[in-house]
Amino acid sequence: MVDSVYRTRSLGIGAEGLPDQYADGAAARVWEFYIGCKQGRTSAYREWFSQLLRNRNCRNVLDVACGTGIDSIMLLEEGFNVISTDASDKMLKYALKERWNRRKDSQFDAWVIEEANWLTQVDDMEGMEKPAGGYDAVICLGNSFAHLPDFSGKLINQRVALENFYAMVKPGGILVVDHRNYDAILNSGTVPAKNVYYNSEFITDMKCSNLYVNGRATMVTLDYSMDMSSLADKPEEFARSKLKKEDVTGTHKFRLSYYPHQLKEFTGVVQEIFGSDAKHDIYGDFMPIEEVSNPAYYIHVVQKPTS
Ligand code: SAH
Repeated sequence: MVDSVYRTRSLGIGAEGLPDQYADGAAARVWEFYIGCKQGRTSAYREWFSQLLRNRNCRNVLDVACGTGIDSIMLLEEGFNVISTDASDKMLKYALKERWNRRKDSQFDAWVIEEANWLTQVDDMEGMEKPAGGYDAVICLGNSFAHLPDFSGKLINQRVALENFYAMVKPGGILVVDHRNYDAILNSGTVPAKNVYYNSEFITDMKCSNLYVNGRATMVTLDYSMDMSSLADKPEEFARSKLKKEDVTGTHKFRLSYYPHQLKEFTGVVQEIFGSDAKHDIYGDFMPIEEVSNPAYYIHVVQKPTS
């Protein structure tokens, strides 16, 4: 983010006026390893999420932050129809490759992957076939939404993006969007090591820097360090990863910045867009919020009213 006080590692390539923090490929290259093995994407998460979508009769799912495709792939394997979009072609490249590799499976053959930015999501998807009335579920997971910067201090970008998501959800359908527990991060100045989605053995350190502008928490920057040297001892896995030797020697670092959504403020903005009558369930690490103290992630499930 170049017009802010703090610089992200990648100055990025403007995607509709927004920097793509993943454009230098430093995160994309090792993302598969950051999130851990695909099957290892905690089974608790796979079960919780598939069940949530089934309980709400969801079939057609739009993943608006598909990245390398991890959630989308999981849902395809669970039998859902998935359309996936992301603003970063560096990340999409990995999803496209996976679709190609698994194209003989009809579920993957039908998988649609497109570039789209949340700020222009509706326009970017114009002309694409979509289910009548909209998608049963729009999902934006893995702490992705927090990537939208808030330079205005008024969450203008966030409202535009949520309005676009709202437009894509069918009446009675749901938006599932998550964010890290920034209340806890801002209180402690650190990021909890536990991660309900990912369980990578390669992460060695995550440094957290918090930026306040005029007393307002404006940006949280995470510096990720990964040691992937053990991959060198696993020739098959190393070959499959398409990583270069220098990627697995020494420490691999990448930096990502986030707007720190605090629970109360974020809940308020979502309710502004979906309406205060919208059914809005909040989970902490997949558990009803009242059953968990200090979760690492909050997951919001918001239903678009039918009238
Ligand atoms: N859901 C995936 C990806 C998480 S990484 C996972 O859990 O692994 C966050 C993703 O959000 C990146 O791929 C990034 O390109 C995407 N992203 C960030 N800002 C975006 C925007 N404005 N529009 C669309 N995608 C965006």
